[in-house]
Amino acid sequence: MEKIYDVIIIGSGPAGLSAAIYAQRAKLSTIIIEANYISGGQVVNTYEVDNYPGLPGISGMDLSTTLRDHAEKMGSEFVRDQVLKLELDGKVKKVVTKDEEYKSRTILLATGAKHRQLGVPGEQKLAGSGVSYCATCDGAFFKDKTVAVIGGGDVALEDAIFLARICKKVYLIHRRDEFRAAKIIQDNLFAQENVEVLWNSVVTEIKGDFQVKSLTVRDVKSKEEKELEADGCFIAVGIIPNSELAQGQLELDAGGYVVAGEDGASSIPGVFAAGDVRTKLLRQIITAASDGANCITSIQNYLITA
Ligand code: NAP
Repeated sequence: MEKIYDVIIIGSGPAGLSAAIYAQRAKLSTIIIEANYISGGQVVNTYEVDNYPGLPGISGMDLSTTLRDHAEKMGSEFVRDQVLKLELDGKVKKVVTKDEEYKSRTILLATGAKHRQLGVPGEQKLAGSGVSYCATCDGAFFKDKTVAVIGGGDVALEDAIFLARICKKVYLIHRRDEFRAAKIIQDNLFAQENVEVLWNSVVTEIKGDFQVKSLTVRDVKSKEEKELEADGCFIAVGIIPNSELAQGQLELDAGGYVVAGEDGASSIPGVFAAGDVRTKLLRQIITAASDGANCITSIQNYLITA
């Protein structure tokens, strides 16, 4: 007979893995579908996590591995495949992947978010040739070189601090005159002697034939432009939700996030959203983990009454 799961979790970042652990505790028949070879989502690319309670200074990779091991130890079943389509109407939902079709009474979207692009000339051409979206992945290629980081959030500042340990010089280019990053990260940044902040500045072009050579930087107040020599350019201008699968089916907000409250319930009964893909105030590892737990509680309640 065809298997119908209680819940299919899509995504294996902190939200999906926490949900997997709670689903096992609730004895729900579950699979977790993950597209990547490494679980953990964006956390994998974080050099050091210093705000996850109880694990001060843990590396992103270690935290991801620990979460994944925990879920496996609880008996979670993982499937590595790419989800192509969701059919969300009716009491039994369908998940169509590259290789299979799965059925489930509920779906938990924990698909996270991806890097926003800057959208300037040269960015796409030089991606992987000096343009990077992951300092912890690519920073080592720029030992003793000059790099620029773009952005003013937690990620941009953490990247600049990380790169300051490796590179000769780090420019941090931010479009305003204040950062949105947490104050403690700002203090750490200002303590780095080889980081220079270019306030009120935007990059209008990334130049280089085969490798990044320079950036055109415009002062947004004076409108003056200058060429900044740099060997690398790390773009950290925020994230956009991985909500393509939900488009045209679930209610999304203007930013493309799945509209769902703390209980994770989306606009379609039986479909839930957890972590960075849902509308929320604070996108952190701890709030993603909390979402995973909340959603499984909501799913248990839904399954009793549906
Ligand atoms: P973010 O907080 O949204 O910051 C994005 C930054 O990029 C902002 O400073 C923004 O400028 C700038 N920006 C956006 N579009 C731009 C453009 N087109 N040109 C130039 N600058 C642009 O994004 P994030 O730093 O990637 O962080 C994403 C989420 O993850 C946040 O909620 C963050 O708190 C969280 N996070 C958590 C941890 C942790 O838990 N340890 C670590 C890292 C990140 P404005 O300031 O002018 O808007």
